[in-house]
Amino acid sequence: MNRIVFTGTASGFPSPDRACSSFVLQLGDKLYQFDAGEGFSNSVQRLKINFNQITQVFISHLHPDHITGIFLELQLMYLAGRRMPLEIYVPDEGVESLEKAARLFYLFKEKFPFVFHFVPIRPNPVFREKEFTLYAYHNRHLTPNQHIIEQTGAANLMQSYSYVVNLADKRILYSGDIKDETDLDGVLENIHTVITEGMHCDLEALADHCAEKKVKRLIVTHLKQNQYARPSALLKIAAQYRGMKIMMAYDGLKLTI
Ligand SMILES: [Zn+2]
Ligand SMILES: [Zn+2]
Repeated sequence: MNRIVFTGTASGFPSPDRACSSFVLQLGDKLYQFDAGEGFSNSVQRLKINFNQITQVFISHLHPDHITGIFLELQLMYLAGRRMPLEIYVPDEGVESLEKAARLFYLFKEKFPFVFHFVPIRPNPVFREKEFTLYAYHNRHLTPNQHIIEQTGAANLMQSYSYVVNLADKRILYSGDIKDETDLDGVLENIHTVITEGMHCDLEALADHCAEKKVKRLIVTHLKQNQYARPSALLKIAAQYRGMKIMMAYDGLKLTI
């Protein structure tokens, strides 16, 4: 079965029923994870996802609501006696620091029963396997930090990516955070399903852009709590489109692909 299971649909402000950003792409018996927000380790157990089957994790950018769950996940896999190697694809700017952080948290590779690595995202393609090819496209989500980075001499490179998953018969776009909906302009060609954060977007403009490109399904995730609490705004937008289904994601949503 090919499907996507949403394991975290909150923004940077988690709520009692929503963990921070993550989902699992299941292709047959293989599992691939996208983003690793806080709460992932709880969600996979609640949703009965065999986390030891995950072979690759693809991180969109280094904000805590997309990456910090990875350390508890590593600990969980260690305690569960995992043997299979794990590759964690991250923006290049983070590789060295994340390797150091793992050691800081006493996740010593030498005592792990499985091999894990932080791998730099090198477009393109980032990853290729029999089932799919993965492409990453840089977006402007982190550019508002430019001033403070210049002022403080920080080494941050503002690397943030949207991913296109190329399957045999369809293409899926996953965008973690973006600056605004125009970040998706160049990557919407021939996309069947768009999964995108909605917090930094004009949702109406986003839906317009997707409909123009004949997207079949638009799944909006990573919304503010008040947007989730009042879905009427998105439902009103959804009612305007024929031929494109618009949905709000929730933790536990299973999407057949
Ligand atoms: Zn975020
Ligand atoms: Zn972010």
